Amino acid sequence: MKVSNLIADKGSEIVMTSSGESVLETAKLLRTHKIGAVLVRDPSGGQVADIAGIISERDIINGVAEHGHQALDMSVGDLMTANVHVCSSEDTVHDVMTLMTDKRFRHVPVVDDGKLVGLISIGDVVKHRIAETEEEAQALREYITTA
Ligand code: AMP
Repeated sequence: MKVSNLIADKGSEIVMTSSGESVLETAKLLRTHKIGAVLVRDPSGGQVADIAGIISERDIINGVAEHGHQALDMSVGDLMTANVHVCSSEDTVHDVMTLMTDKRFRHVPVVDDGKLVGLISIGDVVKHRIAETEEEAQALREYITTA
């Protein structure tokens, strides 16, 4: 299965923030949308598809552990990861799963021809794997009962 199938299932809504936004406001954004990471927009172009970075709940926890409550008043740009790994909608879900496992992160933006078209989380990948495993089990059950 391709990443484009996941995007078709979950939709292409992408929650974004800016590097000057406070970490506290970004934590609120994560809570409101019930998500684990937001992309950081770069109006001047960014490394790819206007992405300046990504900030996840992990970055905020690390920031609080290092700076205490002052981390909440810091800027997104202070805690985000600037070097963002992306995939394309033509990649397979397996490719993305491998990338997430190798690099130890749970979010991958989807960029086609320099344009941001979605964001895949590990939750989307796991949901897909469970559905796939259930389909395989069902096919095997049918094979056994009709054989
Ligand atoms: P996560 O597991 O997605 O919460 O992120 C763990 C760490 O990896 C955090 O420091 C994130 O900023 C960073 N991160 C998350 N997604 C990506 C990505 N696609 N490319 C680069 N770094 C990422």
